[in-house]
Amino acid sequence: MSITRLSKAGIKVTPQRVAVFEALMSLGHASADEIINKVQEHAPYISQATIYNTLDKFVHTGLISRIATDGNKMFFDITPDPHVHLCARDNSFITDANIPELEQLIANFMLGINIPGFNLDRVQVNLVGQFT
Ligand SMILES: [Zn+2]
Repeated sequence: MSITRLSKAGIKVTPQRVAVFEALMSLGHASADEIINKVQEHAPYISQATIYNTLDKFVHTGLISRIATDGNKMFFDITPDPHVHLCARDNSFITDANIPELEQLIANFMLGINIPGFNLDRVQVNLVGQFT
């Protein structure tokens, strides 16, 4: 499955890229450090630089997405399509909000909006709070 998704995104399949993609698949949402730890559990020979470069390539091809939190922490997300996140106020954790009504509302609103002098690429919505 991961090989198919890499190929469909136009990414040349290598063992390193498959390892990075599968690490993020198992984590769902993760920081670069968490992905590096997961990859290197099974493949310690894959360098941090390779993992960072691979994640950048995945983001730029739309295979995965990157989410910035309030505290400027970066998370990678196996799901590239726009969706709303719940973010811990200490920036330690994010997860999908799973509020389709809100996501549809945002999508519908953005369809009808025109901001002069600005071309919108995407909308990122993070609901910040404390998990109980
Ligand atoms: Zn997500």
